[in-house]
Amino acid sequence: MKTIKNIGYILTFLGFAFFIGSIFTGTYKVTPEIYTKWIESKGVKSEYFIENTKKRIVNKELSAWELSSKIIENAKASNEYQHNQPKVDWNKIIHLKWSKTSKDFVYPLVRSSATGWFTNNTALWFLLTFGLAIIGGLLVFIPDYKLLGPAGIKNNGIFQHSATNRGIIGFITAFFFIGFYIFLYFFPNYLVNPILAVNGISKSLSGNPASQWFLYGFMYCSVMTVFAVRMFIKYRHNKYQMIRTAVVLFFQIAFAFLIPEILVAFNKPWFDFKNAWPLNYSFFFDWNINQLINSGNLGIFMFVWGVILTLVVVPVMVYFYGKRWYCSWVCGCGGLAETLGDPYRQLSNKSLFSWKVERWLIHGVLLFATIMTGLTLYVYFAEIPSWKQLFLGISVYDVQTWYGFFIGSIFSGVIGTGFYPIMGNRVWCRFGCPLAAYLGFVQRFKSRFRITTNGGQCISCGNCSTYCEQGIDVRSYAQKGQNIVRSSCVGCGICSAVCPRGVLKLENGSDTGTSRTKTNDILLGNDIDLLSMTNKHD
Ligand code: SF4
Ligand code: SF4
Repeated sequence: MKTIKNIGYILTFLGFAFFIGSIFTGTYKVTPEIYTKWIESKGVKSEYFIENTKKRIVNKELSAWELSSKIIENAKASNEYQHNQPKVDWNKIIHLKWSKTSKDFVYPLVRSSATGWFTNNTALWFLLTFGLAIIGGLLVFIPDYKLLGPAGIKNNGIFQHSATNRGIIGFITAFFFIGFYIFLYFFPNYLVNPILAVNGISKSLSGNPASQWFLYGFMYCSVMTVFAVRMFIKYRHNKYQMIRTAVVLFFQIAFAFLIPEILVAFNKPWFDFKNAWPLNYSFFFDWNINQLINSGNLGIFMFVWGVILTLVVVPVMVYFYGKRWYCSWVCGCGGLAETLGDPYRQLSNKSLFSWKVERWLIHGVLLFATIMTGLTLYVYFAEIPSWKQLFLGISVYDVQTWYGFFIGSIFSGVIGTGFYPIMGNRVWCRFGCPLAAYLGFVQRFKSRFRITTNGGQCISCGNCSTYCEQGIDVRSYAQKGQNIVRSSCVGCGICSAVCPRGVLKLENGSDTGTSRTKTNDILLGNDIDLLSMTNKHD
């Protein structure tokens, strides 16, 4: 079994090595037709740029790095040239911004000019990267069924291992995650070879060539599946964890990946039926509303469903089941946190300070999302163009761009997932997700959900607090025999699973309301001055 596991490590390593290596290899040849089409689609008006770039890149075999840098160099030179003219023609200026130029301007050309081995051998290339990594991952985890002995949670050595206790492997993993998200969000022009590996799957699902977002969706589902197998083995004695893992995996693969791709195949808008506003922050953007309304009855249904999901389904379900129904059973971010992130849940900070930071940050993001959406709807109904400056030289488009950059990309992706091995697996859900903040309000003030504690049985071992991914000090509630009613609890159920004394129980039964949040009057060591009492009795 150990040999199988070691083979698994080698295969996974090879798969990742090919994946990373491909970023630095491959040839790209821009034909005159591709070039002309690209210039037209980007609306480039500068003759200086068109002619000079043509000379430098058309019909030449270049790497993605050479091609990208030549385009950007020429764009900068062209802008300088235009600025030096007696009268600047602003139509000929190419707008350059590090966070947008590569993905919006350069990527389409690099993507369509890929040539050589990777384009001709996509199936073999898929096997060498994703195939090896997926098979390797499964070979690493499946032997645990035998190697780790009888069913039961084995977290042995978790604080000694470099990968799970912020050691060198943990930092290398974080570096890889962060790097991947930066490339994905801002520089997909260097990810064309990995994108080509999943091109065949994309074409068979939607009929379209794969984009960086298809690559991301495919990787997301694959990683979740491999780590779900690990969850099934680790928690195989625990029905709640088994069913929850299966359900969250189903929602990711079916609702966030397959159904949207199939909709596209039928010329319908890409739509994730479970993605609720404000997590789906672009739902009320003008282009999205227009696209849905112009897509016939199904599009209108999607729009109405999106509104009902946020205003009715979400709060009603939280009333009955707590926010766990979404955060731990349905949501893709929660799904990744509960599978890939499971080895890192003990890294969440339990201090009072982080609880304070959490409340300011998450509610701040909810406020930001609400203001941005309010402004978006205002300009939509007032028929004001979103690029028009409204106040202090700021347009709604600017506010949307800031939100997309700081929250949608940096916080939820780069920090939210990239920092799993450093800050635990729920960084985004705990500190940033505006939907979690909204669900949390309902859960805290108007829900049946609570974790009940049989305090008399608690031996204060602290397992529950250690493995609470949301940084809740569960033990302190258990010691007092108090219900855990916290807006941040995602109902993952791990505190209950790791408790050796069966103290904790996740419950939804009807509650009168007063008992749910009642604090028991108990004496703690700090509450009384024992010395003065002793002296009094003397
Ligand atoms: S309190 Fe328990 S159920 Fe809630 S998030 Fe923490 S570990 Fe999960
Ligand atoms: S895991 Fe159970 S026994 Fe240990 S501190 Fe938590 S509630 Fe108490």
